[in-house]
Amino acid sequence: MASIKLNHVAKHFGTKVAISDVDLDVTDGEFLVLLGPSGCGKSTLLRMLAGLETVSSGEIHLGDRRVDQLPPSARDMAFVFQSYALYPHMSVRRNIAFPLIMRQFKWWFHIPLIGGWAKRRIERSPEVADLVEKTAKTLSLTEMLDRYPRTLSGGQRQRVALGRAMVRKPEVFLMDEPLSNLDAKLRTAMRAEITRLHQRVGGTFVYVTHDQVEAMTMGTRIALMRDGVVQQFGTPRDIYTSPANTYVARFIGTPPMNLIEGSIDAGMIKLGEANLPLPHALAAADRGAGRDPVLLGIRPNALTLAAPGVQGQLAGTVSLVEHVGAESVVAVKLSHAATAHDEEGAVAGEIMITTQGYSELKPGDPVSVVPDLSEAVLFSRSTGEQLR
Ligand code: ATP
Repeated sequence: MASIKLNHVAKHFGTKVAISDVDLDVTDGEFLVLLGPSGCGKSTLLRMLAGLETVSSGEIHLGDRRVDQLPPSARDMAFVFQSYALYPHMSVRRNIAFPLIMRQFKWWFHIPLIGGWAKRRIERSPEVADLVEKTAKTLSLTEMLDRYPRTLSGGQRQRVALGRAMVRKPEVFLMDEPLSNLDAKLRTAMRAEITRLHQRVGGTFVYVTHDQVEAMTMGTRIALMRDGVVQQFGTPRDIYTSPANTYVARFIGTPPMNLIEGSIDAGMIKLGEANLPLPHALAAADRGAGRDPVLLGIRPNALTLAAPGVQGQLAGTVSLVEHVGAESVVAVKLSHAATAHDEEGAVAGEIMITTQGYSELKPGDPVSVVPDLSEAVLFSRSTGEQLR
């Protein structure tokens, strides 16, 4: 059983709180992504799982064993680092075999001639050779077994690092931004490679990244963190369609979710001059909001552009058009009281709309923006939490 359970886990470095009271329940075979901006505590959390960092309080369980007080070697977890940490003087074959050689570690390994002879014997033993060959095959490294790390590309080195982690058949794989040193094209290829690896070898994966695309494409579930606190723990779909708060809403999605100020009255939402009926799905949020101001959260692809002057819709002026291949991103400055929430990275009063194909609109063009509220969510203006 490789389920992982974190109960009230916290980590302090002096007065600095790196992780505060994290509870997570990861099921056997899951691909959990720890996602968040730099400094949010995701590496610290991963290092506590590995045993490379002590916990200040709380408990970590692997299956039915409590492991937070055990040394890393007793946890049955393999760690793949951002820097591949391969041994430069060893061939790919020995790099992959190394954890198996070390399992039979004897003090006389350190005596130069005897040590070298003993390591070669273990490396060539049928069980070890077989495991190394199988691992190399899985990762398409068979041709490279006798080469040295300096002669390999970044992606190939990354695969060797993965091979070294896999060869021991650990129950849990821990990965800290393993693709961050690769160029964009190779990252995409390796992303798919790691997903396939997870499907093939099974096991529970915990993967740290600050890249929302990696998180959305690879994770079975994502724990999105900010300042040492898990903001939301859910499937990529949940996090995308139903963000717990405005932070999550703005972190996931490119361009991010629009947040437009408004107020609710008698089943209608008023956004500046526009007054729109709330769909049934938002009825509970309507009751929860009372008379308080709300933020309407709506994705750029749930907004459509129409000719100016459409009665009851949001009026505005185009401020920027970006053509990105199959679609265009249009920024619109709203003309009435309804203003987009001025969070970091957002221009006050401006919303983003994605349209299919090449938009002929130009900055300065007046437009109407028509929202599809069936895909919208509502947040409290004061707390930022989703109203449901
Ligand atoms: P990054 O993506 O930049 O690696 P992260 O989300 O992984 O960031 P952590 O490395 O876990 O963040 O750090 C979380 C916080 O704890 C940061 O504010 C960091 O400065 C602090 N921190 C981490 N390790 C130590 C340490 N050994 N001593 C003091 N503070 C630390």
